[in-house]
Amino acid sequence: MLLPQEIIRHKRDGLKLSQSEIEFMISGFVRGSVPDYQMSALAMAIFLNGCDDQETAYLLHAMIASGKKYDWKASAPGRIFVDKHSTGGVGDKTSLVILPLLICDGFSVPMVAGRGLGHTGGTLDKLESLPGFKTQVDAKTFESWVLKEHGAFGAQTEDFVPADKRLYSLRDVTATVESWPLITASIMSKKLAEGLDALVLDVKFGSGALMQNYDDAKNLAHKLVNAGNAAGCRTIAALTNMEEPLGRSAGNALEVIECLDVLQGAGPTDTRELSLRLAAATAALGRNETTEMHREKAYQRMKDHLQSGRAYEVFLKIAVQQGASLTDLERRNSKWYSDGVATSPIYPVSSGFITSIDTRALGLALIEMGGGRVRKEDSIHYQVGLTEIKKRGEYVSKDEPLCLAHFSVGNKSIEIMKKIQASYTTGEVAPPDIPLIREWI
Ligand code: URA
Repeated sequence: MLLPQEIIRHKRDGLKLSQSEIEFMISGFVRGSVPDYQMSALAMAIFLNGCDDQETAYLLHAMIASGKKYDWKASAPGRIFVDKHSTGGVGDKTSLVILPLLICDGFSVPMVAGRGLGHTGGTLDKLESLPGFKTQVDAKTFESWVLKEHGAFGAQTEDFVPADKRLYSLRDVTATVESWPLITASIMSKKLAEGLDALVLDVKFGSGALMQNYDDAKNLAHKLVNAGNAAGCRTIAALTNMEEPLGRSAGNALEVIECLDVLQGAGPTDTRELSLRLAAATAALGRNETTEMHREKAYQRMKDHLQSGRAYEVFLKIAVQQGASLTDLERRNSKWYSDGVATSPIYPVSSGFITSIDTRALGLALIEMGGGRVRKEDSIHYQVGLTEIKKRGEYVSKDEPLCLAHFSVGNKSIEIMKKIQASYTTGEVAPPDIPLIREWI
Protein backbone atom coordinates (compact mmCIF):
# COMPACT_ATOMS: atom_id res chain seq x y z
CA MET A 1 0.00 0.00 0.00
CA LEU A 2 1.27 3.49 -0.88
CA LEU A 3 1.41 6.14 1.84
CA PRO A 4 1.78 9.87 1.07
CA GLN A 5 4.27 10.37 3.90
CA GLU A 6 6.50 7.59 2.53
CA ILE A 7 6.42 9.11 -0.95
CA ILE A 8 7.32 12.53 0.49
CA ARG A 9 10.13 10.85 2.48
CA HIS A 10 11.51 9.28 -0.72
CA LYS A 11 11.75 12.61 -2.49
CA ARG A 12 13.02 14.36 0.65
CA ASP A 13 15.87 11.82 0.76
CA GLY A 14 16.71 12.40 -2.90
CA LEU A 15 15.31 9.14 -4.27
CA LYS A 16 13.64 8.78 -7.65
CA LEU A 17 9.83 8.49 -7.52
CA SER A 18 8.10 5.72 -9.46
CA GLN A 19 5.21 6.26 -11.88
CA SER A 20 2.76 4.70 -9.42
CA GLU A 21 3.96 6.93 -6.56
CA ILE A 22 3.51 10.07 -8.66
CA GLU A 23 0.10 8.97 -10.01
CA PHE A 24 -1.03 8.10 -6.47
CA MET A 25 -0.12 11.58 -5.18
CA ILE A 26 -1.65 13.50 -8.08
CA SER A 27 -4.89 11.54 -8.33
CA GLY A 28 -5.25 11.53 -4.53
CA PHE A 29 -4.68 15.28 -4.41
CA VAL A 30 -7.39 15.92 -7.02
CA ARG A 31 -9.85 13.53 -5.28
CA GLY A 32 -9.11 15.00 -1.85
CA SER A 33 -7.49 11.95 -0.22
CA VAL A 34 -4.07 13.67 -0.28
CA PRO A 35 -4.50 16.92 1.65
CA ASP A 36 -2.91 20.27 0.76
CA TYR A 37 -0.26 19.98 3.47
CA GLN A 38 1.11 16.70 2.10
CA MET A 39 1.05 17.96 -1.48
CA SER A 40 2.86 21.15 -0.35
CA ALA A 41 5.50 19.04 1.38
CA LEU A 42 6.02 17.00 -1.79
CA ALA A 43 6.25 20.20 -3.88
CA MET A 44 8.95 21.52 -1.53
CA ALA A 45 10.85 18.22 -1.66
CA ILE A 46 10.72 18.38 -5.48
CA PHE A 47 11.78 22.04 -5.36
CA LEU A 48 14.81 21.14 -3.23
CA ASN A 49 15.84 17.83 -4.80
CA GLY A 50 14.54 18.14 -8.37
CA CYS A 51 13.22 15.38 -10.64
CA ASP A 52 14.87 13.69 -13.59
CA ASP A 53 13.27 13.75 -17.05
CA GLN A 54 11.50 10.43 -16.47
CA GLU A 55 9.89 11.58 -13.19
CA THR A 56 8.95 14.91 -14.83
CA ALA A 57 7.22 12.98 -17.64
CA TYR A 58 5.30 10.86 -15.08
CA LEU A 59 4.23 14.04 -13.29
CA LEU A 60 3.20 15.70 -16.54
CA HIS A 61 1.09 12.74 -17.69
CA ALA A 62 -0.51 12.26 -14.26
CA MET A 63 -1.54 15.91 -14.41
CA ILE A 64 -2.96 15.63 -17.94
CA ALA A 65 -4.92 12.54 -16.86
CA SER A 66 -6.56 14.51 -14.04
CA GLY A 67 -9.00 16.11 -16.51
CA LYS A 68 -10.23 16.45 -20.06
CA LYS A 69 -7.89 16.24 -23.03
CA TYR A 70 -9.15 17.65 -26.32
CA ASP A 71 -9.08 15.27 -29.26
CA TRP A 72 -9.78 17.17 -32.45
CA LYS A 73 -9.13 14.31 -34.85
CA ALA A 74 -12.78 13.18 -34.75
CA SER A 75 -14.48 16.60 -34.63
CA ALA A 76 -12.18 18.41 -37.07
CA PRO A 77 -10.36 15.93 -39.30
CA GLY A 78 -7.67 17.47 -41.49
CA ARG A 79 -7.26 20.64 -39.49
CA ILE A 80 -3.92 21.49 -37.87
CA PHE A 81 -4.07 22.62 -34.22
CA VAL A 82 -1.30 24.89 -32.97
CA ASP A 83 -0.58 27.31 -30.15
CA LYS A 84 2.00 29.72 -28.77
CA HIS A 85 2.61 29.94 -25.04
CA SER A 86 4.70 32.44 -23.09
CA THR A 87 6.24 31.97 -19.65
CA GLY A 88 5.03 35.49 -18.85
CA GLY A 89 6.27 39.01 -18.35
CA VAL A 90 5.23 42.66 -18.20
CA GLY A 91 3.40 44.08 -21.21
CA ASP A 92 3.61 40.61 -22.75
CA LYS A 93 0.59 40.75 -25.02
CA THR A 94 1.51 38.93 -28.24
CA SER A 95 -1.17 36.22 -27.88
CA LEU A 96 -3.86 38.72 -28.91
CA VAL A 97 -2.07 39.31 -32.21
CA ILE A 98 -0.75 35.79 -32.81
CA LEU A 99 -4.06 33.92 -32.51
CA PRO A 100 -5.74 35.81 -35.39
CA LEU A 101 -2.55 35.67 -37.49
CA LEU A 102 -2.48 31.88 -37.21
CA ILE A 103 -6.16 31.57 -38.06
CA CYS A 104 -5.55 33.70 -41.18
CA ASP A 105 -2.80 31.25 -42.10
CA GLY A 106 -5.20 28.30 -42.01
CA PHE A 107 -4.65 26.91 -38.50
CA SER A 108 -6.94 26.24 -35.56
CA VAL A 109 -5.85 27.66 -32.21
CA PRO A 110 -7.44 26.38 -28.97
CA MET A 111 -5.58 28.80 -26.70
CA VAL A 112 -6.14 28.03 -23.03
CA ALA A 113 -4.51 31.05 -21.42
CA GLY A 114 -3.83 32.21 -17.86
CA ARG A 115 -4.47 35.09 -15.52
CA GLY A 116 -1.89 37.38 -13.96
CA LEU A 117 0.62 35.49 -11.82
CA GLY A 118 2.86 37.31 -9.35
CA HIS A 119 4.25 40.39 -11.09
CA THR A 120 3.29 39.16 -14.60
CA GLY A 121 0.09 39.95 -16.46
CA GLY A 122 -2.30 37.37 -17.92
CA THR A 123 -3.96 37.12 -21.33
CA LEU A 124 -7.40 36.40 -19.84
CA ASP A 125 -7.35 39.50 -17.62
CA LYS A 126 -6.39 41.62 -20.62
CA LEU A 127 -9.22 40.24 -22.77
CA GLU A 128 -11.79 40.50 -19.99
CA SER A 129 -11.11 44.25 -19.85
CA LEU A 130 -13.25 44.32 -23.00
CA PRO A 131 -16.82 44.64 -21.72
CA GLY A 132 -18.71 41.36 -22.22
CA PHE A 133 -15.66 39.28 -23.22
CA LYS A 134 -16.10 35.79 -21.70
CA THR A 135 -13.29 33.27 -21.25
CA GLN A 136 -14.50 31.17 -18.30
CA VAL A 137 -16.77 28.78 -20.20
CA ASP A 138 -17.34 25.01 -20.10
CA ALA A 139 -15.35 22.69 -22.34
CA LYS A 140 -18.28 22.21 -24.76
CA THR A 141 -18.66 25.93 -25.42
CA PHE A 142 -14.89 26.36 -25.86
CA GLU A 143 -14.83 23.44 -28.28
CA SER A 144 -17.73 24.84 -30.29
CA TRP A 145 -16.00 28.25 -30.52
CA VAL A 146 -12.77 26.66 -31.75
CA LEU A 147 -14.66 24.61 -34.33
CA LYS A 148 -16.72 27.56 -35.59
CA GLU A 149 -14.17 30.38 -35.88
CA HIS A 150 -11.02 28.21 -35.80
CA GLY A 151 -9.82 29.66 -32.52
CA ALA A 152 -10.74 30.88 -29.08
CA PHE A 153 -9.20 32.16 -25.88
CA GLY A 154 -10.24 29.88 -23.01
CA ALA A 155 -9.60 29.57 -19.30
CA GLN A 156 -8.55 26.61 -17.23
CA THR A 157 -11.66 25.05 -15.68
CA GLU A 158 -12.38 22.42 -13.03
CA ASP A 159 -12.33 19.70 -15.68
CA PHE A 160 -9.25 20.88 -17.63
CA VAL A 161 -6.03 19.80 -15.85
CA PRO A 162 -7.54 20.30 -12.37
CA ALA A 163 -4.32 18.94 -10.83
CA ASP A 164 -2.42 21.97 -12.13
CA LYS A 165 -5.13 24.42 -11.10
CA ARG A 166 -4.89 23.20 -7.50
CA LEU A 167 -1.17 22.58 -7.36
CA TYR A 168 -0.37 26.00 -8.82
CA SER A 169 -2.40 27.74 -6.08
CA LEU A 170 -0.41 25.81 -3.47
CA ARG A 171 2.94 26.53 -5.12
CA ASP A 172 2.09 30.21 -5.33
CA VAL A 173 1.81 30.44 -1.52
CA THR A 174 4.52 27.94 -0.53
CA ALA A 175 7.53 29.39 -2.42
CA THR A 176 7.69 26.46 -4.82
CA VAL A 177 7.02 28.15 -8.15
CA GLU A 178 10.59 28.37 -9.50
CA SER A 179 11.23 24.66 -9.98
CA TRP A 180 12.01 23.22 -13.43
CA PRO A 181 10.07 19.94 -13.08
CA LEU A 182 7.07 21.69 -11.51
CA ILE A 183 7.01 24.45 -14.13
CA THR A 184 7.49 21.94 -16.96
CA ALA A 185 4.63 19.74 -15.77
CA SER A 186 2.41 22.76 -15.12
CA ILE A 187 2.86 24.50 -18.47
CA MET A 188 3.06 21.41 -20.66
CA SER A 189 0.10 19.63 -19.03
CA LYS A 190 -2.17 22.47 -20.12
CA LYS A 191 -0.67 22.75 -23.60
CA LEU A 192 -0.70 18.99 -24.28
CA ALA A 193 -4.28 18.70 -23.00
CA GLU A 194 -5.23 21.18 -25.76
CA GLY A 195 -4.59 18.35 -28.24
CA LEU A 196 -2.03 20.27 -30.33
CA ASP A 197 -0.02 19.22 -33.36
CA ALA A 198 2.59 21.92 -32.76
CA LEU A 199 3.54 24.41 -30.06
CA VAL A 200 5.93 27.36 -29.90
CA LEU A 201 7.07 28.45 -26.46
CA ASP A 202 8.14 31.99 -25.72
CA VAL A 203 10.53 31.57 -22.78
CA LYS A 204 11.40 34.95 -21.33
CA PHE A 205 14.67 35.91 -19.66
CA GLY A 206 15.58 39.12 -17.81
CA SER A 207 14.42 41.25 -14.91
CA GLY A 208 10.70 40.81 -15.67
CA ALA A 209 10.79 37.06 -16.37
CA LEU A 210 9.98 33.99 -14.31
CA MET A 211 13.59 32.88 -14.88
CA GLN A 212 15.66 36.07 -14.75
CA ASN A 213 18.98 34.41 -15.47
CA TYR A 214 19.59 33.53 -19.15
CA ASP A 215 21.04 30.05 -18.47
CA ASP A 216 18.12 29.16 -16.19
CA ALA A 217 15.65 30.28 -18.87
CA LYS A 218 17.52 28.25 -21.49
CA ASN A 219 17.51 25.16 -19.28
CA LEU A 220 13.75 25.59 -18.78
CA ALA A 221 13.28 25.99 -22.55
CA HIS A 222 15.12 22.69 -23.18
CA LYS A 223 13.00 20.87 -20.62
CA LEU A 224 9.73 22.22 -22.03
CA VAL A 225 10.74 21.41 -25.61
CA ASN A 226 11.87 17.88 -24.71
CA ALA A 227 8.63 17.22 -22.80
CA GLY A 228 6.49 18.42 -25.73
CA ASN A 229 8.35 16.43 -28.39
CA ALA A 230 8.43 13.29 -26.24
CA ALA A 231 4.63 13.52 -25.95
CA GLY A 232 4.22 13.72 -29.75
CA CYS A 233 3.61 17.47 -30.07
CA ARG A 234 6.18 19.22 -32.30
CA THR A 235 7.64 21.82 -29.94
CA ILE A 236 10.28 24.55 -30.19
CA ALA A 237 11.10 27.55 -27.99
CA ALA A 238 12.34 31.11 -28.46
CA LEU A 239 14.35 32.78 -25.70
CA THR A 240 13.06 36.35 -25.70
CA ASN A 241 14.01 39.56 -23.96
CA MET A 242 12.14 40.60 -20.79
CA GLU A 243 14.76 43.08 -19.53
CA GLU A 244 12.08 45.71 -20.26
CA PRO A 245 8.31 45.65 -20.79
CA LEU A 246 7.24 44.55 -24.25
CA GLY A 247 5.83 47.47 -26.24
CA ARG A 248 4.90 50.86 -24.82
CA SER A 249 1.91 49.90 -22.63
CA ALA A 250 1.44 47.69 -19.59
CA GLY A 251 -1.92 47.17 -17.91
CA ASN A 252 -4.90 45.17 -19.07
CA ALA A 253 -7.11 47.44 -21.21
CA LEU A 254 -4.13 49.54 -22.28
CA GLU A 255 -2.44 46.44 -23.69
CA VAL A 256 -5.58 45.51 -25.63
CA ILE A 257 -5.47 48.96 -27.22
CA GLU A 258 -1.81 48.41 -28.16
CA CYS A 259 -2.74 45.08 -29.77
CA LEU A 260 -5.62 46.67 -31.70
CA ASP A 261 -3.10 49.25 -32.95
CA VAL A 262 -0.71 46.48 -34.06
CA LEU A 263 -3.55 44.62 -35.75
CA GLN A 264 -4.40 47.81 -37.62
CA GLY A 265 -0.84 48.21 -38.90
CA ALA A 266 0.51 50.59 -36.24
CA GLY A 267 1.75 50.07 -32.65
CA PRO A 268 5.26 49.63 -31.27
CA THR A 269 7.87 47.81 -33.37
CA ASP A 270 8.86 45.25 -30.72
CA THR A 271 5.28 44.09 -30.05
CA ARG A 272 4.61 43.79 -33.78
CA GLU A 273 7.91 42.11 -34.61
CA LEU A 274 7.79 39.54 -31.80
CA SER A 275 4.19 38.68 -32.67
CA LEU A 276 5.08 38.20 -36.34
CA ARG A 277 8.20 36.12 -35.60
CA LEU A 278 6.46 33.83 -33.10
CA ALA A 279 3.43 33.41 -35.35
CA ALA A 280 5.70 32.61 -38.33
CA ALA A 281 7.63 30.00 -36.34
CA THR A 282 4.36 28.42 -35.18
CA ALA A 283 2.99 28.29 -38.73
CA ALA A 284 6.17 26.70 -40.10
CA LEU A 285 6.26 24.14 -37.30
CA GLY A 286 2.54 23.45 -37.74
CA ARG A 287 3.22 22.39 -41.34
CA ASN A 288 6.36 20.54 -40.25
CA GLU A 289 8.53 22.93 -42.26
CA THR A 290 11.81 23.20 -40.48
CA THR A 291 14.22 25.35 -42.50
CA GLU A 292 15.05 29.01 -41.98
CA MET A 293 13.68 29.67 -45.49
CA HIS A 294 10.28 28.22 -44.50
CA ARG A 295 10.18 30.41 -41.40
CA GLU A 296 11.06 33.46 -43.48
CA LYS A 297 8.28 32.68 -45.99
CA ALA A 298 5.84 32.27 -43.10
CA TYR A 299 7.01 35.64 -41.74
CA GLN A 300 6.18 37.32 -45.07
CA ARG A 301 2.71 35.71 -45.01
CA MET A 302 2.14 36.94 -41.45
CA LYS A 303 3.11 40.48 -42.48
CA ASP A 304 0.61 40.23 -45.28
CA HIS A 305 -2.17 39.00 -42.93
CA LEU A 306 -1.48 42.06 -40.78
CA GLN A 307 -1.12 44.65 -43.56
CA SER A 308 -4.20 43.48 -45.42
CA GLY A 309 -6.34 43.97 -42.29
CA ARG A 310 -7.39 40.28 -42.35
CA ALA A 311 -5.91 39.53 -38.92
CA TYR A 312 -7.78 42.50 -37.46
CA GLU A 313 -11.05 41.25 -38.96
CA VAL A 314 -10.43 37.79 -37.49
CA PHE A 315 -9.71 39.26 -34.04
CA LEU A 316 -13.03 41.15 -34.19
CA LYS A 317 -14.87 37.93 -35.09
CA ILE A 318 -13.26 36.03 -32.22
CA ALA A 319 -13.95 38.86 -29.76
CA VAL A 320 -17.59 39.11 -30.83
CA GLN A 321 -17.96 35.30 -30.63
CA GLN A 322 -16.75 35.55 -27.03
CA GLY A 323 -19.23 38.31 -26.13
CA ALA A 324 -17.44 41.64 -26.81
CA SER A 325 -19.20 44.47 -28.61
CA LEU A 326 -18.15 45.47 -32.10
CA THR A 327 -18.87 49.11 -31.27
CA ASP A 328 -16.42 49.10 -28.37
CA LEU A 329 -13.78 47.50 -30.52
CA GLU A 330 -14.22 49.37 -33.77
CA ARG A 331 -15.06 52.86 -32.75
CA ARG A 332 -13.40 52.82 -29.35
CA ASN A 333 -16.00 55.43 -28.44
CA SER A 334 -17.34 54.06 -25.20
CA LYS A 335 -14.03 54.75 -23.44
CA TRP A 336 -14.00 51.28 -21.91
CA TYR A 337 -10.24 51.58 -21.70
CA SER A 338 -9.99 54.98 -20.04
CA ASP A 339 -13.02 55.37 -17.78
CA GLY A 340 -12.26 56.19 -14.17
CA VAL A 341 -8.56 56.90 -14.57
CA ALA A 342 -6.36 60.00 -14.62
CA THR A 343 -2.81 60.11 -15.93
CA SER A 344 0.34 61.38 -14.22
CA PRO A 345 3.73 61.63 -15.93
CA ILE A 346 6.67 60.01 -14.14
CA TYR A 347 9.97 61.86 -14.59
CA PRO A 348 13.50 60.43 -14.29
CA VAL A 349 15.69 61.18 -11.28
CA SER A 350 18.42 62.31 -13.65
CA SER A 351 18.72 62.74 -17.39
CA GLY A 352 20.66 60.24 -19.49
CA PHE A 353 20.35 57.03 -21.45
CA ILE A 354 18.10 54.43 -19.86
CA THR A 355 20.61 51.72 -18.96
CA SER A 356 18.30 49.28 -17.16
CA ILE A 357 14.69 48.80 -16.12
CA ASP A 358 13.73 46.71 -13.11
CA THR A 359 10.79 45.20 -14.98
CA ARG A 360 9.65 43.05 -12.07
CA ALA A 361 9.37 46.20 -9.94
CA LEU A 362 7.23 47.81 -12.66
CA GLY A 363 4.96 44.73 -12.68
CA LEU A 364 4.62 44.92 -8.90
CA ALA A 365 3.81 48.65 -9.10
CA LEU A 366 1.02 47.77 -11.57
CA ILE A 367 -0.44 45.37 -9.00
CA GLU A 368 -0.31 48.09 -6.33
CA MET A 369 -2.15 50.43 -8.70
CA GLY A 370 -4.97 47.85 -8.84
CA GLY A 371 -4.07 46.35 -12.24
CA GLY A 372 -3.28 42.90 -10.81
CA ARG A 373 -4.21 40.72 -7.87
CA VAL A 374 -2.61 40.40 -4.45
CA ARG A 375 -4.99 37.55 -3.57
CA LYS A 376 -6.70 35.15 -5.96
CA GLU A 377 -10.13 36.55 -5.22
CA ASP A 378 -9.18 40.23 -5.73
CA SER A 379 -10.88 42.13 -8.52
CA ILE A 380 -8.88 44.10 -11.07
CA HIS A 381 -9.18 47.69 -12.18
CA TYR A 382 -8.70 47.02 -15.87
CA GLN A 383 -7.99 50.58 -16.96
CA VAL A 384 -4.97 51.32 -14.75
CA GLY A 385 -1.43 50.88 -16.03
CA LEU A 386 1.40 52.58 -17.87
CA THR A 387 1.59 54.01 -21.38
CA GLU A 388 4.27 55.75 -23.44
CA ILE A 389 6.84 53.62 -21.64
CA LYS A 390 10.41 54.64 -22.48
CA LYS A 391 12.78 51.78 -23.24
CA ARG A 392 16.39 50.77 -22.63
CA GLY A 393 18.84 52.82 -24.67
CA GLU A 394 16.50 55.80 -25.13
CA TYR A 395 17.69 59.20 -23.91
CA VAL A 396 15.53 61.10 -21.43
CA SER A 397 15.99 64.63 -20.18
CA LYS A 398 14.78 65.51 -16.68
CA ASP A 399 11.56 67.06 -17.97
CA GLU A 400 10.71 64.14 -20.25
CA PRO A 401 8.41 61.47 -18.75
CA LEU A 402 9.64 57.88 -18.43
CA CYS A 403 6.01 56.86 -18.82
CA LEU A 404 2.45 57.97 -18.09
CA ALA A 405 0.89 56.28 -15.07
CA HIS A 406 -2.89 55.76 -15.31
CA PHE A 407 -4.20 55.75 -11.73
CA SER A 408 -7.81 55.13 -10.84
CA VAL A 409 -9.33 58.50 -10.01
CA GLY A 410 -8.59 59.48 -6.41
CA ASN A 411 -5.92 56.78 -6.01
CA LYS A 412 -2.86 58.56 -7.31
CA SER A 413 -0.01 57.52 -5.03
CA ILE A 414 3.28 59.38 -4.68
CA GLU A 415 4.78 56.23 -3.17
CA ILE A 416 3.95 54.15 -6.28
CA MET A 417 5.19 56.93 -8.56
CA LYS A 418 8.51 56.84 -6.71
CA LYS A 419 8.72 53.05 -7.14
CA ILE A 420 8.15 53.39 -10.88
CA GLN A 421 10.76 56.14 -11.06
CA ALA A 422 13.24 54.02 -9.05
CA SER A 423 12.84 51.06 -11.39
CA TYR A 424 14.63 53.07 -14.13
CA THR A 425 18.41 53.60 -14.10
CA THR A 426 20.00 56.21 -16.37
CA GLY A 427 23.64 56.71 -17.33
CA GLU A 428 25.89 58.58 -19.71
CA VAL A 429 26.38 55.72 -22.14
CA ALA A 430 23.67 53.79 -23.95
CA PRO A 431 23.63 50.09 -22.93
CA PRO A 432 24.30 47.37 -25.52
CA ASP A 433 21.21 46.22 -27.43
CA ILE A 434 19.53 42.98 -26.38
CA PRO A 435 17.92 41.17 -29.33
CA LEU A 436 14.20 40.58 -29.09
CA ILE A 437 14.81 36.88 -29.77
CA ARG A 438 18.20 35.75 -28.54
CA GLU A 439 18.04 32.09 -29.50
CA TRP A 440 15.77 29.32 -30.79
CA ILE A 441 15.77 25.92 -29.06
N1 URA B 1 3.13 29.28 -15.75
C1 URA B 1 2.44 28.14 -15.48
O1 URA B 1 1.40 27.88 -16.05
N2 URA B 1 2.94 27.30 -14.56
C2 URA B 1 4.10 27.54 -13.89
O2 URA B 1 4.50 26.73 -13.09
C3 URA B 1 4.80 28.73 -14.18
C4 URA B 1 4.29 29.58 -15.13
